[in-house]
Amino acid sequence: MADETSHAAWVERDAAVVWHGFTQMATYADNRPVVVERAEGRELIDVEGRRYLDAISSLWVTTLGHRVPELDDAVRAQLDRVAHSTLLGNGNVAAIELAEALAGRVPVDDPRFLFASDGAAAVEQALKIAFQSWTNRGVAGRTTYLAFGGAYHGDTIGSLSVGDGGFGTTVFDPLRFACVRTPGLDEPGAVDAAVALIAERADELAAVVVEPLVQGAAGIRVHPPEALAAVAAACREHDVLLIADEVATGFGRTGTLFACEQAGVRPDLMCLGKGITGGYLPLAATVAAGPVHRSFLGPDLSELTLYHGHSYSGNALACAVATRHLELFDEWGVLANVGARAEQLRSRLAADVAPLAPVAAIRQQGVMVGIELDPPADGLRWGRRVSAACVERGVLIRPLGDVVVVMPPLTTTGDEIDRIVDVVAASIADACR
Ligand SMILES: *Cc1c(COP(=O)(O)O)cnc(C)c1O
Repeated sequence: MADETSHAAWVERDAAVVWHGFTQMATYADNRPVVVERAEGRELIDVEGRRYLDAISSLWVTTLGHRVPELDDAVRAQLDRVAHSTLLGNGNVAAIELAEALAGRVPVDDPRFLFASDGAAAVEQALKIAFQSWTNRGVAGRTTYLAFGGAYHGDTIGSLSVGDGGFGTTVFDPLRFACVRTPGLDEPGAVDAAVALIAERADELAAVVVEPLVQGAAGIRVHPPEALAAVAAACREHDVLLIADEVATGFGRTGTLFACEQAGVRPDLMCLGKGITGGYLPLAATVAAGPVHRSFLGPDLSELTLYHGHSYSGNALACAVATRHLELFDEWGVLANVGARAEQLRSRLAADVAPLAPVAAIRQQGVMVGIELDPPADGLRWGRRVSAACVERGVLIRPLGDVVVVMPPLTTTGDEIDRIVDVVAASIADACR
């Protein structure tokens, strides 16, 4: 029998009781999962002491690294006050302080923050707020949404509905509500098509939902700021609300604190998640611009109220760490490092990865990178094989189909970028031979 502390024993215990998301549990153990016991800096350490550079930021949530002393202290200090108290009808200091800090930073006019725990919930809230803001203003018929090809907004039924198919989610098609779909903004002619549809269907649209600059889950598909600006202008012109889903792009990933800033876009609703706590605790927020929020104001208990709210909304531990995280962005000059590392990644990938035969394209915005492989036949699982080869070499990578995603933490050093590119290049050469 295997040693009880061995990797094999942990995987067996894991598979016996834990159901992992987006994972076929019948083959989970065969794919050599990493079982993390602790971390140091940007390295995860498994149950047998092996180290892995976290080149996917723990699925895009980790920003400054793991076990950041300042963030650890923020959680500990809040523990000595209170861990959680409800935001339904009452307040807590940690949530107020976070909302005040974010208010000065989000590209949303006169913002109000409705907290939740996951990105999908932030999107769900935005969809419901957009819909009800029209009914509150006595406008009928605004019952659908315009969303983009390749979109991913989360896994609840509402967020799944504005998301496009794929990732094995077509099985849920009968549960999806209908929305108006237009090609992703990286496709030729897509901007004109989107603008025309907004003009044509404005009377039916509660909102347009967009992932600004980068469609992450679609395989890091990027579009220029001008494309986003054109969509935002059409929304304004035709009086359609704009929901910017910054769950993946928010908190520095694209080079600015929020992707909308690069297009000069100020959405009516914005969804925040993933990096908001630096990857520490589950927290998300729907940010509503003043005019949207005001459409919900009225007599106590009236139907103008937003009857929606989650149990852990505004969790004090999560809010405290999120506030400290935002301060560290400035104290450490995090965005300057993102700029430098993004440039380094761009030139190293162009020199050492783009020329490799299996690579069809490299897409990048800030420190979000998708390396699209071009397998000669279906079923070769190149994305999976390259990622496994990277893990074998001590760099944690997870693919999206045949797109190898590289999304290092924002504090990654130059040496770590070199290590990631070296390992990815070697793994592509090996695994696709
Ligand atoms: C990850 C993601 C979501 C969903 O967030 P969860 O916290 O996983 O629910 C929504 N939108 C975008 C753009 C994302 O990348």
